Order: sequence, then structure tokens, then C-alpha cells
Amino acid sequence: MSHLMNTYARLPVAFTHGKGAWLTDEDGHEYLDALAGIAVNGLGHAHPKLTAALAEQAGRLIHTSNIYRIREQEALADRICALTGLDEVFFANSGSEANEGALKLVRMYGHKHGKPEAQTIVMEHAWHGRTLATLAATGSEKARKGFEPLPSGFIRVPYSDLAAVERAATDDPRVQAVWLEALQGEGGIRVADADYMRALRRLCDENAWLLMVDEVQCGIARTGKWFGYEWAGIKPDVITLAKGLGSGVPIGALVAGGLARGTLGPGNHGTTFGGGPLACRAGLETLRIIEEEDLLANADAMGQRIRAGFAAAFDGLASVVSIRGQGLMIGIELDRPCADLVKQALASRLLINVTQDRVIRLLPPLVINGREADEIVARLAPLVRAFVGAPIQRAA
Ligand code: PLP
Repeated sequence: MSHLMNTYARLPVAFTHGKGAWLTDEDGHEYLDALAGIAVNGLGHAHPKLTAALAEQAGRLIHTSNIYRIREQEALADRICALTGLDEVFFANSGSEANEGALKLVRMYGHKHGKPEAQTIVMEHAWHGRTLATLAATGSEKARKGFEPLPSGFIRVPYSDLAAVERAATDDPRVQAVWLEALQGEGGIRVADADYMRALRRLCDENAWLLMVDEVQCGIARTGKWFGYEWAGIKPDVITLAKGLGSGVPIGALVAGGLARGTLGPGNHGTTFGGGPLACRAGLETLRIIEEEDLLANADAMGQRIRAGFAAAFDGLASVVSIRGQGLMIGIELDRPCADLVKQALASRLLINVTQDRVIRLLPPLVINGREADEIVARLAPLVRAFVGAPIQRAA
């Protein structure tokens, strides 16, 4: 009997080691990783520069405490602020925790501006985490079910629907923030329209609301830009980061600027582990390597290559509803539930995921090369064609 709490329906495989976009299981079989730990292992597995930096750091200093100065933390905050143009960073240990901090920031912002019952407009299909407050903001009824009563303070509207945001704010003068993912990940790889993002920025400016963007999944070069919101040319007041920032070493970041700057002060928030030397060194090295190896451009190019590959492989196939995404955040929506494809892909030694029942989600490492990008298409396309009952394409 397993002593693990039964919260995951795990796949029957365990990996012993990896290299780049490849993982090896206990029986020595090699798998092509098109999921990267759900957008975590941007540098792939066992990146030599990251490994060396982490070993060096672990040999010197892993943890002190936030009651002392932490140089690695200061350096990473500087780097994140240089990349975002925002002003201040609070480091946590996960996406949920960074988001929980963002929600505390909205509450404090409300209190400081005479709206102690601050409401945040959130999106249908959003995913912000599994703590009670982030769960309340999350769009998935299935995830929320059984955990009520959840914290209040959220008004949910359809994603990419500006009029719905305007209506919600007219109906409720307590609104203080709009919160969304620039690209929804768990929600089915939905990309926010750039005009919509710009209109939200204007709306927030006009009303002194905080525009908050959850970049936990779509940030850190995943979409071919450092942050997903950059595709719309806007600057949010608050962003949150996690997943790809530490390349697998747990780290989350709450980043604030503009109207949000200075909202949280001494004693308002804290953490034991957050922003420790090891995690921040992982963040610093990750950002350095992404830049050094030009992985933004690679993510963009490889993403286009994979989407084009699938477009050709599924040409004329009505069961494939859409192939979408940005950079290496790719969704293939089918006309039917397709969770079973995850197991079939595993049997073909390919790691993928299915979200929203019918959207195949691909989040390969940012380091994949053209041969590996083509191999993802070559392994997955025949499985999908067989799954929807289409004839298998023969190579020309
Ligand atoms: N926000 C987004 C957009 C996510 O995709 C996730 C996780 O999938 C989270 C927040 C929660 O992050 P974590 O699992 O690190 O708590």
C-alpha cells in the first residue's frame, strides 16, 4: 500500500535522469519531453551550466533567513525589474504563493484607497493555484468543489471580453483590480487578444485599478518573449512568476510597480524559505542562460515549426478544431475528449498533457532543437489521427 496521499492519478512511470529534452525511466527507456514538468524545465534536464552553478551554491550556502540580506535575492530582483520595468519583488516558493501575495496586495491597496472590500475581476477558465484564495480566483468548478466556503472578493467574467469587464465594474464600484493570464494554460492554451490587453490597461489607468498578470505558466521566455503580456506591448502593475524561473528549484515571485508600488510594507508579508540563496541562484542562472543561448528566439522559432508541422499533418481533418498558442506554449483542440492520448503518447515515449478534456497541451523545454521539434510532431500526429479515426498519413 502506498503511503502517499491519493491526490494524483499518476502515470505508471518514474524517471531516473534526463538530458536536454530527454528523460530516461527506470527500465532505461528514453522519452521525448514535450511537457517540461508543466512549463518548469525551460533549460531542459541537467543543463550543465545550471547544474554547476547549483552545485557551487549548495556547497557554499543554501539557506539563511529573510531577517538577513541575501545577495542572490537582491541580484535576482534587480534582474527581474530590469526585464519588466517594474520596481519591487517579493520572493515566494510557488505560483500559488506568489499569487496569494498578489491577492493580499489588492486587499491592502483597497484598504489604503478607501475601498476595504476590494473586488478583483477574474476570468473564466483562469488557473491561479490551489490555496484557498487562489482557488477562489480559479475558473475551474471541479477544482473548487468541496472547498467552499472560499474567500470572497472576486467577480468572474469571460476571458477576452472587454464589455464584460466594463459591465462588471459598472455593477460593482468596489472593483480595484483586473487579474488574468496573458495566455491561459490550464484553461486550454487560450491567447488573450492584444487589443483586449491594451484596452484593459487603459481601463485600469482610467480607474486607478491594478492590472495584474499571472505569468506563472506563460512567463520566462515560454512564448518567445520574456513575458506573455509583452506581445500586447503593455506594462502591468503586478505580475507573478514561478515555474520556469527556477528551472525546477521551487521559486515564486510577486513583482509590483506603477500603482502597486509600495503597497506592502514591513510586517505585511513574509516567508521562511522564499528567496533563499539556492532558489535565487537558480533564477539568476536560468535568466542568464536563456539570454546567453538566445532561447527567446528559439522558443519562437520552434513553436512556429511545431505548429506548422501539426497544421500540415492535420490538414483537412475536421476533428482537429484548432492548433493554437504562442512560442512553446501550444494547444491542439480536438472535437472530443482525448485524455487517453496521454497514455498512448507515453507508450510512444512522448510526454504530453491534456487540459480542458479536449486540448492537447505541449510545453517543451525552451532548448529543443529542430530535430526534436519535428520528432514531437512525428510521434504525436499519427496517434491523434488514429484516435479520431483518420487514415494515417504516409511520408511523401
Ligand atoms: N498560475 C498559473 C497560470 C498556473 O498555471 C499555475 C499552475 O499550474 C499556478 C498559478 C499555480 O502554481 P503552483 O502550482 O506553482 O502553485
